[in-house]
Amino acid sequence: MENCIFCKIVAGEIPSAKVYEDEEMVIFKDIAPIANIHLLCVPKEHFKLLSEVEETRAALLGRMLQKIGRLAPSLGLAEGYRLVVNQGENAGQTVPHLHIHLLGGQVLPWA
Ligand code: 5GP
Ligand code: ZN
Repeated sequence: MENCIFCKIVAGEIPSAKVYEDEEMVIFKDIAPIANIHLLCVPKEHFKLLSEVEETRAALLGRMLQKIGRLAPSLGLAEGYRLVVNQGENAGQTVPHLHIHLLGGQVLPWA
């Protein structure tokens, strides 16, 4: 999608510190980390909201969660981590391309 920063990262038009990539998702470091480890797991397909998720995307999101679970130890998240999916304005979603924040590398607030 035009002017979507994550679509540009997916396309390689904007550099990012990628830690994982396959045919349907990419995981890269957040440019403004709010935890010692702050990664973003982003589907290559552009869509904004969970309300746009049908069967195909639900399966994709399932694989993203499965991948996060499998990769977590190698990403420095063996001691635990938090996933965050901001949805819409009130949650502070700033990039209109669905993404999962991976936060860890420390004891997190509210833990
Ligand atoms: P949101 O607020 O939409 O849930 O999260 C968007 C996240 O994307 C923010 O944490 C922000 O720091 C990150 N971000 C925005 N632009 C870029 C960028 O160009 N590169 C990377 N690596 N992260 C970005
Ligand atoms: Zn996009």
